[in-house]
Amino acid sequence: MTKRVYNFSPGPAVLPLSVLEQIQSEMISLPGVGASILEISHRSPAFDAILAESQALIRQLLGVPENYRILFMQGGAHLQFTALALNFLRGAGKTAEYIITGTWGNAALKEAQKEGPTRVVWDGKQHNYSRLPAFSELKLSADAAYIHMTSNETIQGVQFVGQPDTGTAPLICDSASDFLSRPVDVARYSMIYACAQKNAGISGVTAIVIRDDLLERVPKNLSASLDYANFAKNDSRPNTPPTFAIYVLMLVGRWLRDTIGGLDKMAALNSSKAKLLYDAIDTSGGFYRPHARPDSRSKMNVTFRLPSEDLEKAFVKEAVKQDLTELKGHRSVGGIRASIYNAMPLVAVEMLAKFMADFAKKIT
Ligand SMILES: *Cc1c(COP(=O)(O)O)cnc(C)c1O
Repeated sequence: MTKRVYNFSPGPAVLPLSVLEQIQSEMISLPGVGASILEISHRSPAFDAILAESQALIRQLLGVPENYRILFMQGGAHLQFTALALNFLRGAGKTAEYIITGTWGNAALKEAQKEGPTRVVWDGKQHNYSRLPAFSELKLSADAAYIHMTSNETIQGVQFVGQPDTGTAPLICDSASDFLSRPVDVARYSMIYACAQKNAGISGVTAIVIRDDLLERVPKNLSASLDYANFAKNDSRPNTPPTFAIYVLMLVGRWLRDTIGGLDKMAALNSSKAKLLYDAIDTSGGFYRPHARPDSRSKMNVTFRLPSEDLEKAFVKEAVKQDLTELKGHRSVGGIRASIYNAMPLVAVEMLAKFMADFAKKIT
C-alpha cells in the first residue's frame, strides 16, 4: 500500500482505513450483485438494501425514535440552510430564531433571511466566537417558526454540550461536524441535519433526521427537489440519490457499530483525543493560545494560535515533515486547527501532541 499521512483535514476528512479497504475490495463487483456500486440502479434491490441499512444504522446508533424519518439529500449542509427556511419559514407568518456561535450559524442565517423574518437571539461575535451562551442566557420565543443552532462550529472550534429547551418551538440543529460523534437526545430536536464528509462518510450526501409532524407543515407547491415531505414520501428517492455516498455512509455506520462499539464508545474515544491536544495547549506555558474558552471547547476541531504568524507557518511546515498534515486554520480566522473526527486514530493525535511539545521546546 502507498503511504498514508495523518490527515487533520476539516472536511472532507479522514475515513477509517478498513472502510477504504472494503470500498476498494468491492469496487469492481458488489458481493452477490456482480456490478459496481457505481453502476447499479438506485431502484435495484441491491441499492434498496444499502439505503435501508444506512437509515437503520443511523436510527440504531443515535437511538432515533419511531416518529422521526431519516432522509438523504444532496447539496451539502448549505442546501439545508435554504431548504429548512423554505419548508418552515417562507409564508409561515412567524419568525425564525438563530443562535449564532460562528461562521456556519451566520451562513445559515443569511439564507433564511431571504425567505422570511429572522431574529438573532444570541451572537458570539463580540467574543470573537470563542464562547457559547449558557442555555439560561437565551431568550427564546415559544411561537418561533423554529430555533436554529449549530452544535459544533467547525471553524472556530466551539461545541455545545446538550441543547436549549425550546418548549413548543421546533429546534433545528446543524450537526454537520459532530454527527455520529457522540450520543444525542434526538427527541429534544425537531430536525438534525449533517453532511457526511466530516464524521460519517464522504461529500455528496446530507442526512436529515426529522420528526413526522414537521413534515405536515411543509407548504404545498414547494420545489419538489427541496420539499422534505416529498423526500419522505419517496424514501429519499424522488430522483437519483447519491448512491455511492450512501453506500460509504453505510460502511462507516457499520464501523461505528461493530469496530467502535457504538456512540458511547466513540464519544469516550473522541474525548480522550481532544484532551491530549488541550493538555498540550494548557501545559505549553502560554506558547499555544487556545481560541475557545475552556467551557466551550470542541472535541472535533481544536483551534489555537502561536505567538506569531511566522511561527504558525513554521509549525504547519514542520508538522508536514512528520506526516501530520492539513493543520492550517481556516482562512477566515487563521492560526492552527486540528480536526480530529471519528476516524482520526488515537495514535495520530498522540503524535501531534508530542510534536506540539517538541516544537514549543525548540522555539522557547
Ligand atoms: C462543513 C460544514 C457546513 C458546510 O457543509 P457543505 O456540505 O460544504 O455545505 C455547514 N455547517 C457546518 C457546521 C459544517 O461543519
